Amino acid sequence: MAAVSLQQLRKVYPDGHVAVAGASVEIADGELLVLVGPSGCGKTTLLRMIAGLESISSGTLGIDGRVVNEVAPKDRDIAMVFQNYALYPHMTVAENLGFGLRLRGHAQADIDRRVAAAAQALELESRLGARPAALSGGQRQRVALGRALVRDPKVFLLDEPLSNLDAKLRLSMRVEIARLHRRLGATMIYVTHDQIEAMTLGQRIVVLDGGVIQQIDTPMNLYQRPANLFVAGFVGSPAMNLLRGTLRKPRDWVLATAQGEVALGPSLPQPGWQAWAGRDVVLGVRPEHLQPQESAPPALQAVLEVVEPVGNEIFLNLRYGAQPLVSRVPPRALPAPGCTLALGLVAQQLHLFDPASGSRIEA
Ligand code: ATP
Repeated sequence: MAAVSLQQLRKVYPDGHVAVAGASVEIADGELLVLVGPSGCGKTTLLRMIAGLESISSGTLGIDGRVVNEVAPKDRDIAMVFQNYALYPHMTVAENLGFGLRLRGHAQADIDRRVAAAAQALELESRLGARPAALSGGQRQRVALGRALVRDPKVFLLDEPLSNLDAKLRLSMRVEIARLHRRLGATMIYVTHDQIEAMTLGQRIVVLDGGVIQQIDTPMNLYQRPANLFVAGFVGSPAMNLLRGTLRKPRDWVLATAQGEVALGPSLPQPGWQAWAGRDVVLGVRPEHLQPQESAPPALQAVLEVVEPVGNEIFLNLRYGAQPLVSRVPPRALPAPGCTLALGLVAQQLHLFDPASGSRIEA
């Protein structure tokens, strides 16, 4: 296993497109790091640069303390699992698992030993003689993982390995990958556009947008302290409510928006926000921190449009003037759509952003 070091890695394609604009991150030995971001943000390009499948325009890539910018893919000791894995249909599971090793000239006894170990780790022992057509989708995906596993590489790179699976299988494979990572203690870099997958798998997550790293953090920190508006909107489902307005204190503090005044109370949740009095800001409120409230004066009133019960909780889709808002509440008797709800905010859980730079405003 090995640490991976990215220093100002940059990729400019021949047509001049900057796909990765200087990415720096130190990935610890044994860490599972997730790269996440919307389509086209540069995650695959970054992963392919680490694999050696894409040249590096500038910056330094280190694996295990060695600069590998110019090292051929096969000599980087890396194994990659792709989204569109192809198993050889005419070969058994055992032959599929061992094929790469055979090409590399490993002795048969060594191949047998490694295939047996991978099959045990992935619970494929009873399927070693089967051909891919006789496997379930999850078993095929495990064989694809197993082909990386048999090589015992320094680093595993996984490029959306679960995106071709149905929702249920994706969930169980996600748990299997987490379990496998814990068991192997392997360094893994995992690319996905699915923020739930990123949050549940990653020890740390790199959020990319437009080729630029927006934040590198633990799942909890990304959720609780998003560094900017992009991360605030990208992480969390339903997404964070974002209200733009001017921070004022006629008597108590309010956010004066185009829809009306949002009451924030006699003091702001964070003293540092006072410096923004009279200026435009974006207030961020997670759906669980916007709650119907009968007593106490509400922060705002909004019309209930659609009620979405999802089992253990209910999403209330609201409209505050022209602005849609979402509140997430525990199961309870549902108010009728069309009624007006008084809503309160959980003051200590609010977020504030500078609309010009998009950056989080700290206390
Ligand atoms: P997705 O989730 O859709 O796979 P991604 O985040 O992995 O997206 P990349 O495939 O890394 O994104 O692409 C990043 C940007 O670089 C995109 O705008 C893409 O159009 C562009 N790009 C990718 N390959 C090339 C290429 N060979 N030449 C020019 N531009 C490219």
